[in-house]
Amino acid sequence: MRACHSHRLARPFALLVERAGAVMAPEAGHAVWRAWFALAFLCAALLTVALPQRASAQESAARAPSASDVRAEGDAWRAALPRDPAAATQAYLDRIEPEAGARSDAYFEGGQWLQLWNLLLGLAIAWVLLQARWAQALRRRCTAWTTRPFLQALSYGALYVAAGWLLGLPLTVYQGFVREHQYGMATQTLAAWFGEQLIGLALSVVLGALLIAAVYAVIRRAPQRWWIGGAAVVMAFTVVGVALAPVYIEPLFNTYKPLADTPLKRKIVAMAQANGVPVANVYEFDASRQTTRVSANVSGLFGTAAVRLNDNLLRRSSEPEILAVVGHEIGHYAMNHIPKSLLQIGLVILVGFGFTAAAVKGLLARFGARWGVGAVQEPGSLPLLAAVLSVYLYFATPLLNTMTRTMELEADLYGLNLAREPDGEAEVLLKLVQYRKADPGALEEALFFTHPGTRRRIENAMRWKAQMLPAP
Ligand SMILES: [Zn+2]
Repeated sequence: MRACHSHRLARPFALLVERAGAVMAPEAGHAVWRAWFALAFLCAALLTVALPQRASAQESAARAPSASDVRAEGDAWRAALPRDPAAATQAYLDRIEPEAGARSDAYFEGGQWLQLWNLLLGLAIAWVLLQARWAQALRRRCTAWTTRPFLQALSYGALYVAAGWLLGLPLTVYQGFVREHQYGMATQTLAAWFGEQLIGLALSVVLGALLIAAVYAVIRRAPQRWWIGGAAVVMAFTVVGVALAPVYIEPLFNTYKPLADTPLKRKIVAMAQANGVPVANVYEFDASRQTTRVSANVSGLFGTAAVRLNDNLLRRSSEPEILAVVGHEIGHYAMNHIPKSLLQIGLVILVGFGFTAAAVKGLLARFGARWGVGAVQEPGSLPLLAAVLSVYLYFATPLLNTMTRTMELEADLYGLNLAREPDGEAEVLLKLVQYRKADPGALEEALFFTHPGTRRRIENAMRWKAQMLPAP
């Protein structure tokens, strides 16, 4: 359930992809600077116009989530629920206050549009860079300090990631800070939030530059078939990143510690051990430092794979709700969803690199002279490579979502069988409506949802209850 492993898996790879197209080097000349200032001005103007409207439309959103978003009910209400799964599901969904439902829909749908705006902004920046012949300007500067191709690619890569971060900053501030506050989900001040962004930037520059330099080393060795080795390099980075992130990266942002010793902990540990999760691999962390969201995840690989429960969940949920979530997360662990995701993502990336290699070859043949990029093995091809890959990944998102959603459904069923708390499951799913649209259409769910829709998930729980638990 919840802010799941998919986001964590994506993080190392995101170093390459999220910055796709969004790049600029200070050496690239005045035309690029002018273009950037024009772009930044446009962003600022759009934000100035859009924010007040958004704020008035979402006036009630600027507050922490409260019980009034979902009508509270007790054990008597749950005991009186109809046995029919569809009717019981409807009774649960009817508890979402209309205003809260509308706010949740707006938040989720806005998030989908933001993915598109991020793609288009990245493409616009890549186009500006290529038109400004950044490659030539960079080549002059970088070849001046080193003749080693690996170090040249490394410095291109570092500049690319840093400049991409800078150019993407207006949209990042809106998406990560302003909007989260508008919807009452953020708990950080701007300074604290920005401090974390800077830590992320430092990590991105170092790891992103290494990844880019490694991919270009492969391209130089095999200019025709580089996409196979290139995909292997990205996957190797991703696997190492997923394994090491819980130990070396996540603790930079949150404090992870063993669960406090309570009767509940003993139940959780028993469930975990009985299903192959080592006792030491169940943690709680202080997500409330950043957000009001209730969530949990399974992250890590090999020895670092563990169930991690956030403190919002532990503080704001009843025992049946927590056990339902723990059952779901143990399901991810027991069914090896992280290694399986990595295999699936590896295939998507391999196909993506094949597509990128073919498209970049064609585009360079036609426009290479205009952009000052002779061949793909020149690091100046980086904005083009990243732009093509980002388009591919955007259109592959429904496929990636479906892979994740399938595993989420599996984990739901595993969790129901393990925790045997269908009503706890339904209650906690109502809490997640804070940030996830509750009742999407079938096509909408297929394209945009990393988890099954709330109605479908509650109905699964109610069907399990009708079939597996004796009538009271
Ligand atoms: Zn999950």
